[in-house]
Amino acid sequence: MGFATKAIHAGNAPDPATGAVSVPIYQTSTFAQEALGVNKGYEYARTKNPTRTALEQNIAALEGAKFGFAFASGMAAIDSTLRLLKSGDHVILGDNTYGGTFRLFDRILSNYGIEFDLVNTSDASNLEPAFKPNTKMVFVETPTNPVMTVTDLAAVSEIAHAHGARVVCDNTFLSPYFQRPIEHGVDIVVHSTTKYLNGHSDSVGGFVALNDEKDAEWIGFVQNSAGAILSPFDSFLVLRGTKTLAVRMEAHDKNGRTVANFLAEHPRVQKVHYPGLASHPQHEIAKRQQSGFGGMVSFETGSLDNAKKVLSSVKLCTLGESLGGVESLICHPASMTHASVPAERRAALGLTDGLVRISVGIEDIEDILSDLDQAL
Ligand SMILES: *Cc1c(COP(=O)(O)O)cnc(C)c1O
Repeated sequence: MGFATKAIHAGNAPDPATGAVSVPIYQTSTFAQEALGVNKGYEYARTKNPTRTALEQNIAALEGAKFGFAFASGMAAIDSTLRLLKSGDHVILGDNTYGGTFRLFDRILSNYGIEFDLVNTSDASNLEPAFKPNTKMVFVETPTNPVMTVTDLAAVSEIAHAHGARVVCDNTFLSPYFQRPIEHGVDIVVHSTTKYLNGHSDSVGGFVALNDEKDAEWIGFVQNSAGAILSPFDSFLVLRGTKTLAVRMEAHDKNGRTVANFLAEHPRVQKVHYPGLASHPQHEIAKRQQSGFGGMVSFETGSLDNAKKVLSSVKLCTLGESLGGVESLICHPASMTHASVPAERRAALGLTDGLVRISVGIEDIEDILSDLDQAL
């Protein structure tokens, strides 16, 4: 079955009770039991809910995973994945993850005896010297937010597995339409479904997809025990979103490439970060492991003042956090999405005060370009 077919049909069988073609929103907290210990597979909605089950089957299929779990947010999905670790374990964390991921390690997990080191995984040779006897996980994001560095997932997985460590990849930026990390050897894929998977900026959610049965059993146990589940309504929304993932991602990619090329030639722009440009340092890796480059583009305006001018002059692009919706969103990573990353770390990553990030939407490209042009 092809990707677009799976996106529409996996998990989406007609409702067994009524034949409803769209999976209904099972807005119920509990399920009647016929007798003690006899039920239809559902008992209490924290544990399992049919709308959530449908979504879990759907996204797991898209990632090529046997198991999937939907969470209340991307951060809840990441937090629940990290509960595979125990006090005393060490993690190699990509040095340019989503700000909230860094904050989770830095401010919360560090209180529970989980050690981590930041490593620039875009050069796989940086990885080997970072392993310690207690390294149990390598956590990467590719492309990274917001400077769009790319990590070679096959190379990182091979090194990590030789050390007995799991590899987790945050696949939010490309979605399984353009990148399926498990095919490159990654063990666990995490998502903020808030972004491309839902795609319409009207739901916050997260997802974990994996093949290992023991790890899946534990993540399911954490999902039920800690309870950061996705609601039936949000599960319905994301399931509705993934049906059009293939067509939306094609449109984001087409517009993303055009915006990146336009900015690269614009006299007011000093630098463009987009893995689809031949000038991108990991362009070759991106071409190999991705089937598209997506709609995320960031660019250097040269100063905080210039960035402010652009951000306050756009009319079509909406100034706001988040990404991956049908509408173009623009933001200032240093003060918005990455404000929780210390200034000296931001500087080391090239996450400057003049950097502007666009989540290129699927509006008519002429309208997006003329908005950016007048703002610049
Ligand atoms: C938004 C985002 C997250 C966090 O997801 P939430 O749904 O906001 O909790 C994690 N990783 C990446 C790459 C993101 O863009």
